[in-house]
Order: sequence, then structure tokens, then C-alpha cells
Amino acid sequence: MAKKGRVFSGARPTGRQHLGNYLGAIKNYVALQQEFECVYSIVDVHALTTVETTKDLTSNTFDMALDWLAAGIRPEESIVFVQSHVPQVMELHTYLSMVTPLGKLTDLPTFKEKVRESPENVNYGLVGYPVLMTADIVLYRTDVVPVGVDQAPHLEFARETVRSFNYRYGAAVLKEPQMKNTEIPKVLGIDGQQKMGKSLNNHIELAATPEETRLRVMQMVTDPQRMRRTDPGNPEVCNVFSMHKIFTPAEDVAMINQECRRAGIGCVDCKKRFAENLNQNLAPFREKRAEIGANPATVWDVLHDGAKRARAIAEETMVSVREAIQLPK
Ligand code: ADP
Repeated sequence: MAKKGRVFSGARPTGRQHLGNYLGAIKNYVALQQEFECVYSIVDVHALTTVETTKDLTSNTFDMALDWLAAGIRPEESIVFVQSHVPQVMELHTYLSMVTPLGKLTDLPTFKEKVRESPENVNYGLVGYPVLMTADIVLYRTDVVPVGVDQAPHLEFARETVRSFNYRYGAAVLKEPQMKNTEIPKVLGIDGQQKMGKSLNNHIELAATPEETRLRVMQMVTDPQRMRRTDPGNPEVCNVFSMHKIFTPAEDVAMINQECRRAGIGCVDCKKRFAENLNQNLAPFREKRAEIGANPATVWDVLHDGAKRARAIAEETMVSVREAIQLPK
């Protein structure tokens, strides 16, 4: 089937992926492969803006790539690679930075948030993060970028930067990417309050063993108003119930919904069922992960092959960029 164009997306190497990453990103990455030619980058250079130590950069990259492949990203079709393996992105970033007003960067909500979070670490790279992101996108002549609401200003920035560049150098040399609005669910952690994330240690790893998964699920916070087993519960405010809706067959979801409301099923039972269903859902992923992971070199081969294909596209773009700027040959 002819594909509708090229998609690009990047994610920082965060190691073993959790349910939040899966439902919020990977699942969509896998689905997009049907319709688009996909380019997925593990953006290790971006990670340098915030990481404290780089000692885990390689293992985190490997673990994330392994999870992506096990989840169904198909390297025969899609380009999967490590950002720093295509150094042209750094070059394009520099050229783009010359057409970027500084005030535009410091006005972005994500930048302001980072400054609030860690005022002691406002480095130059952090300010320029959206410029590097733009370079990533346009280097591969991307047609479409899937973005959730919080990333929308970054994509708008990328589009404006492309227009400024093309205007400045008088040529339609860079392709303006389109935004594909993607509804990204906010997956809550086992605390039932905050967004699932590694740093909060409220996550459930896709690659955990069934027993580890069960223990994690049993710690999940349910309806906070439900104190005793005999109290009726409210599934609408229960994080376990929202997970059931994703991983449990519809007729069981309906039963749980009904039984919880009349205290026919307790939270412990409800969580046991969820753990079982989750483990069942994740079994094929875990099997495939073990299979691929048994030979780590295959993961690196995929990433190196992806980088080779990515570099070919990137170099082509850069030839026209350098020409448009009129850099001496
Ligand atoms: P990045 O900063 O590169 O986006 P993260 O590890 O924060 O790295 O997230 C990677 C992807 O997983 C992002 O697309 C993000 O939206 C998604 N994600 C992470 N945690 C969650 C969550 N709890 N709920 C939904 N999506 C999530």
C-alpha cells in the first residue's frame, strides 16, 4: 500500500518503558506504521540538556530500542535510530538557530516550566531544545508529526522556523511539517494521582516479570473514598478501573463496573483480575523481548542500519541547505 507520507517522532532514551510510555506513545508509533513511512529517533543529544550523568545513556538507549521492537515497531519498514548517529542534525541546528529570535524560545511554556523546575540548570542547550527538535523534524523532510496538546507550541515553532529559513534564503528548501493532533491519554501512576513516570517510581514496566507486575498492581490506589470492603465503590474515580477499560474484555469491564458500585467485588479482587489481564496482554511482548534480547547485537544492528538510512536522507537535505545558504563549496 502506498504510504501517506513521512512521520517523524523522537523520544529521549529513558530505558525500560512503562505503561505510560506504551499507551501514550509506543502504541501510536506502532499504529502509524500502517499508513506512514515512519522515522523514530532515540534522541540522546536532547537528553544531555537535563541528565545528571551519562553513564546510563547507552544502556537506556538499548533498553528503549528493545522495548520498541518488542512492542511492534518494524525496522524493515520504519527507520529506527539514535539521534547522535546522524551528526547532520547538529549542523542544521546551528543554521536554524541563526533565524531564531531568542525571545521566541524563552517565551515557550515548556522552557518556562523547565526554568521553574531547575533554575540552577538553565543551559544554552535547554533554551535551544526546540531548535534541535526542528532540525530533527525537517532533516528527514517530514510530512507529519504526531503531537499531543503540550507539544503543539513546539511544532508551531518548528513550522515558523521553516518559514523563516525559507524566506531568509529565498528558497523552499525545507519542508514545513504538518501537525497530526493526537490525543495522548494521561496515564496515572500506581498512586492514582500523578502521571506515571520513572522519576516518581509510580510506574509499571512493560518488561517486568508477571510476579513483579502483580505486586505493583496490588499497590495501586483505588477509589480513595472506599474505606471498607462493604462500601460501594465509584469506578469513575478509580485508576484501576480506567486500566481495566484498556486491558480487560468488555463484558468483564461491565461486570466490574456494576459489582464495584454495589460492593459485590472488592478492590483486592478487582486488582487481582487486572494483574492477570495485564500479564496476559503483555505476554506476547515479553516473549518477543526475550527473544530479541537474547542476541543484543541485533538491536544495535537495527539502530546502525536505521542511522545509515537516516544519514542518506539527512545528507541529501543538507546539500540543498548548504547550497541555499550559499556556503562556499
Ligand atoms: P520525552 O520527554 O522524550 O517525551 P518521556 O519519557 O517523558 O520522554 O515520554 C516518552 C513518551 O511517553 C512521550 O510521548 C510521553 O508523552 C509518553 N508518556 C510518558 N509518560 C506518560 C504517561 N504517564 N501517560 C501518557 N503518556 C506518557
